[in-house]
Amino acid sequence: MIARRAQEINPFIVMDVLERAHALESDGINIIHLEVGEPDFDTPANVSEALCRAVNDGHTHYTHSLGVLELREAISEYYLEKYGVQVDPDQIVITSGTSPALLLLFSALLERGDQVILSDPHYACYPNIIRYIEGDPVNVPVYEEDGFQYRPEAIREAITERTKAIFINSPSNPTGNLLSKERMRAIAAFNPYIVSDEIYHGLVYEGQAHSILEFTDHAFVINGFSKLFAMTGLRLGYLIAPREFIRPIQKMQQNFFICANAAVQAAGIAALKGSWDEVARMVETYDRRRKFIIQGLKDLGFGITVEPTGAFYVFANAKHISNDSYKLAFDILENARVGVTPGIDFGQNGEGYLRFSYANSVENIEEGLKRLKRYLADLR
Ligand code: PMP
Repeated sequence: MIARRAQEINPFIVMDVLERAHALESDGINIIHLEVGEPDFDTPANVSEALCRAVNDGHTHYTHSLGVLELREAISEYYLEKYGVQVDPDQIVITSGTSPALLLLFSALLERGDQVILSDPHYACYPNIIRYIEGDPVNVPVYEEDGFQYRPEAIREAITERTKAIFINSPSNPTGNLLSKERMRAIAAFNPYIVSDEIYHGLVYEGQAHSILEFTDHAFVINGFSKLFAMTGLRLGYLIAPREFIRPIQKMQQNFFICANAAVQAAGIAALKGSWDEVARMVETYDRRRKFIIQGLKDLGFGITVEPTGAFYVFANAKHISNDSYKLAFDILENARVGVTPGIDFGQNGEGYLRFSYANSVENIEEGLKRLKRYLADLR
């Protein structure tokens, strides 16, 4: 009775962990959240003020389906300033978070059976959305011993005549690693479209993130305000696409979503124009937490071969504890009262790992580590 596409879509497991954690919390149990990829910081004050002002000023109606021009111009200026690339505001589509941008993009790009190359591990929703569109995700394993590097040589071997796109995500969720300029250039030279999820740009503690648009125009960029500006619940993202894709994507946007939230788009302009001091403070704080949690996890015996330098995740080897990361994550939640994400959420090659998010205070991370220490001692 229920359509196959709805029955067969995989859950986003981290949301299942989070929802179980919330259920425990509503029973009065204290949980330390190291599972969810969500900044714990308040949205910068200038952004919240711009949002309220926009509502009070009557920005409560539909906008242009591609998004408010001033926001698209601000994004274009941001890409020019940060990466030295020219993006015409007419190539930008504003969406309610990057997640709808992924849906629009794959809907515009994939015929049934078209392949998209992904690193494994990868962000959980990529293959789920690709399969929903009847595309075929193809995994290229990346390895802990190799710093989870996504290697052009391995990608080349996976390319077939059905390969429509190569997906990259640097800094990466879940591994927190960055793709070097040289590797990006090499990947950009391949024939298929490159789709670059740049949502963690700006959250970089060592090295530098590059936009795919520095190397090729035969590419799509996904980006959004959730992480860098701590705006997850406001739902604002965007898609930069080659010109010929804009009209088809616009037609889907009109039918599926009409437009992104009008007042939130005003908040997005304020974020890009006036939140950089606040962002710098958040980045500094994440970096302190990063160092703290890496050391703490290593002290507990988790394997971290190459330290992550971007996003706010540590992908730690837990194979010495269990090879069933799903079971382990829920067991840790129920017994240690710490939320962690099972590596299997991110692909077969993520099995045996746990993802820890350090988008939480040092005090909470410390308490989480203490609970894990007790949990691990009890296992022995
Ligand atoms: N891409 C990646 C790599 C992510 O980690 C996330 C959020 N977890 C998203 C996309 C989706 O973010 P949003 O829809 O909030 O913009």
